[in-house]
Amino acid sequence: MALDKSKKSLTRTHFSKDLKNLQIGAEIRVAGWIEDFRDIGKLGFLTLRDVTGAIQAVLLGPNLEKAKSIPRQSNILIVGTIKPTKSREFEVEVAVKEIYVYSEATQSLPIDPTGRIESNLDNRLDSRALDLRNPKISKIFVLRSQVLKIIRDFFILNNFVEVNTPKIIGSASEGGSNLFSLDYFKRKGYLAQSPQLYKEQLILSLDRVFEIAPYFRAENSHTVRHLNEFLSVDIEASYLDYFDIMDIIEELVKRTLKYTIESHYHAGLSSSESKSFLGAVDSPFPRLSYEQCLKDLGGMDEKISFGDDLSDSSLRKLGEKYNSFYFIIDWPLDLKPFYIHENDKDPVLSKSFDLQYGYLELVSGGTRQHDINKLKYRIQNQGLPIDSFTNHLRAFEWGMPPHSGCGLGFDRLMMVLSDLPNIREVVLYPRDTSRISP
Ligand code: ATP
Ligand code: MG
Repeated sequence: MALDKSKKSLTRTHFSKDLKNLQIGAEIRVAGWIEDFRDIGKLGFLTLRDVTGAIQAVLLGPNLEKAKSIPRQSNILIVGTIKPTKSREFEVEVAVKEIYVYSEATQSLPIDPTGRIESNLDNRLDSRALDLRNPKISKIFVLRSQVLKIIRDFFILNNFVEVNTPKIIGSASEGGSNLFSLDYFKRKGYLAQSPQLYKEQLILSLDRVFEIAPYFRAENSHTVRHLNEFLSVDIEASYLDYFDIMDIIEELVKRTLKYTIESHYHAGLSSSESKSFLGAVDSPFPRLSYEQCLKDLGGMDEKISFGDDLSDSSLRKLGEKYNSFYFIIDWPLDLKPFYIHENDKDPVLSKSFDLQYGYLELVSGGTRQHDINKLKYRIQNQGLPIDSFTNHLRAFEWGMPPHSGCGLGFDRLMMVLSDLPNIREVVLYPRDTSRISP
């Protein structure tokens, strides 16, 4: 019986993950790519994979002959029936009635998507769509999608409104020099480095906002944790202070950890490491002051003067002592952007925090300055052009509530959740100083 080429019979009935729940003898159509094919004489075994998993298809006679000529990684539809299997890898198998080839793959692929022949990261990124046929890789991005959903659900549940602020802006939002500029109808435009000013304006009426969006930094960095385009989860909330924001972030991060552990997405993690993860879920994240960090570093032969930023090497030393999640709080005010509030205990300090995972900074946040005069002073004191903040400052004359917020580097959180040391592994098409395509 030849396959009816009408549209309906060329569509699948099931994802591969669903087959184990069907009855023996059930008729199915599954679609995907050929991961493997073994011809053992009168019989052939074909492994067909889709994003949900793999199935084993058994071929005989003309179907076996046909399968021999189809290159691996070609995209096919299999029509067949469910039968019991002796295989240890699969719960059932499919007796093939017919194979339909949607599209053949070339014989010479740039990388091996089964992962049996290892490719370096650059080659994989050059052929990312094919790289994602490796289930270990696609898992990262399925997890990414699910963690984003957890984050959205969590904020919405806590009365945050999701917002979308512009990524093309007319003036530097934080005065930073790390902005990409572009031609905008005979004027200069920039790519936003953060939604900071917009989100502060929006809490005037929306009370609590969050945004999940890409931001751009024109930094010439060559590290495993910086990209020139990254996804940020930003929040801003009225009437909360930085301790409230830390509580929110701690609960959110724990939810993502818990989900990752429970869903067994934590691929490649040894059992001891996964226990330390469980520990992080059950106990409070330590909160160290900046000054405590200086003391700790002093004890590790790393002398830092008050007011100095913590360098990469200092953070790596600190990360050896605190190798899981911890907050660094109350940074010197001068190290923080103009919109951060001074500390009531000591005005040389600020109401600020970073969340770290070992050496890696995941989040920066703080209580914001909502007094317009102090804010103007801070802008000028930092040598920023006050005129480019005119629009922003107007909002502070319209009854600005006290507020706090933070920005979480989502790609960095994904590095932690998937236990991968390079940010490029967890971003589909990373943008760094040497990579702008594909
Ligand atoms: P770092 O000191 O690591 O360069 P930062 O202090 O400049 O980061 P913030 O401006 O505080 O970064 O941004 C908030 C968060 O966004 C950071 O804690 C980090 O998780 C993430 N982030 C910032 N810059 C990048 C980048 N270039 N690539 C990826 N994530 C980033
Ligand atoms: Mg920071």
